[in-house]
Amino acid sequence: MKAEINRILPFSSVDGPGNRTAVFLQGCNIDCKYCHNPETRHLCRGCGVCVPACPTGALKAGGDRPEYEESLCVGCDTCIRICPYGSSPKTRQMTPEEVFRVVSRQIPFIRGVTVSGGECMLWPEFVRQLFELSKKAGLSTLMDSNGTLPFWEYPGLMEVTDGVMLDIKAYAEADHRAITGFGNETVLENARYLSEISKLTEIRTVVVQELYDAVKSTEQTVDFLQESLQGKDVRIKIIAYRPMGVRKEYSHYRVPDRALLECLAELWRRGGFYNIVIT
Ligand code: SF4
Ligand code: SF4
Repeated sequence: MKAEINRILPFSSVDGPGNRTAVFLQGCNIDCKYCHNPETRHLCRGCGVCVPACPTGALKAGGDRPEYEESLCVGCDTCIRICPYGSSPKTRQMTPEEVFRVVSRQIPFIRGVTVSGGECMLWPEFVRQLFELSKKAGLSTLMDSNGTLPFWEYPGLMEVTDGVMLDIKAYAEADHRAITGFGNETVLENARYLSEISKLTEIRTVVVQELYDAVKSTEQTVDFLQESLQGKDVRIKIIAYRPMGVRKEYSHYRVPDRALLECLAELWRRGGFYNIVIT
């Protein structure tokens, strides 16, 4: 069993509590306008457009996709910018054991492993096997997910997952569709399900004023979650939109001001949520 890996970050302090190794899986099932890593959205189609654009010869025409020579890469990201399919020639297929070998090098210095993406739930069996190995080594296991795929259909994966950091991009179906191209019925059901099994670690929302009414959406989300999350320590992460890494056509949105973000935090506090981070 192999998954397409975009990259492995040995140390991350923003992908869950403590120092963690973060594994980014390639491919996503939705298309957020504010995506900061648009090159993680699709698998390489092997069109070859990026090969002659590489200034160092790190890419060579291969069979069904370019061959990538990491030692020659200078990280200029020309290949990513030029790719017409939202992909990267630098991804590689790895087994859970191979990824765990990379993770295990950091074991004395990390609290756990986080899988992100792309959308990690597109690779549920891979994640289950990686988490099983990680837990045997005493590491905590977290997923960072857009929540559009039903967690309740994967009990084996849930068993080895300590928590999920779940995006609730907007409460209203139409708003979620405007942001991602997809509805959010499963996202909201996942929030309740994960809360019931005490595996909802964090709720994340990116604030983009041009795409939805963040105040209204937060009020509705708080109302929806208040009962099921009462007394549970779920972190609320309010993330200000920033244009870094965003595709050119979506880079014109305004960065929300601090007053709006504080106002959203206050709405969560009024609903009984106190573990709030604005970033
Ligand atoms: S980032 Fe891409 S284009 Fe730049 S050197 Fe590496 S492989 Fe070549
Ligand atoms: S990474 Fe993109 S440009 Fe390069 S071969 Fe794959 S699909 Fe084509």
